Amino acid sequence: MINKFKHLLFPPRCIFCGEVLPTKGSATCSACAKKLPYVEDGNILRKIGKYTCAVTFYYEDCVQQGIRAMKFRGRKNRAARFAPYLAQTVAEHLGGEFDAVTYVPIHFLRHVHRGFDQTKLIAEAAADIWEVKLLKTLRKTRNNRPQSSVKDPEARRKNVMNAYTAVNTEAFRGMRLLLIDDVVTTGSTLTACADELLAAGAASVVCAALAGGHPEKKSPDR
Ligand SMILES: [Zn+2]
Repeated sequence: MINKFKHLLFPPRCIFCGEVLPTKGSATCSACAKKLPYVEDGNILRKIGKYTCAVTFYYEDCVQQGIRAMKFRGRKNRAARFAPYLAQTVAEHLGGEFDAVTYVPIHFLRHVHRGFDQTKLIAEAAADIWEVKLLKTLRKTRNNRPQSSVKDPEARRKNVMNAYTAVNTEAFRGMRLLLIDDVVTTGSTLTACADELLAAGAASVVCAALAGGHPEKKSPDR
């Protein structure tokens, strides 16, 4: 009875467009399911500096809408429901290439403001699906400008320089890590984080993001 009531108060919603869903259990409405901007096969694995990154969706249309709602309008419970999409891409393209999962953290102050770290929630849920350990390996030490407000690639690289510091290094020394971010644009954030992890003793780093730009276009806003 209480569950039924809760269902009426908080009906399940499409994680992309926010439409109320007629049934429980699915993550998307039928309109979004038909037009999800999946990255086509040849572009899923891309090179970001010396690192390989798997990307599930293009950051556009309903995917952009859903991720922005999660980050900026506090749709916290959507984060874990995005995870199966990322989990599938990684299983298909980076299976067997990592021993543990980690993520690009947000700064403490932004965490306080937003109330949650969306990338951590996605990584946590994905790690659960794969039954792999999730490790906190990085701390954001500088509350820099959001990368979305920096357009020039060189300025983006400088904006994240020395912004992340490895923590708990004993826990991942010699391990192969999968580093997750929600959106990859020029890749400067992932590169800065992956460099830091390697310098702190990780054996290797591969990356994955829920969404990214078209390889031929640059800088979707995030
Ligand atoms: Zn929808």
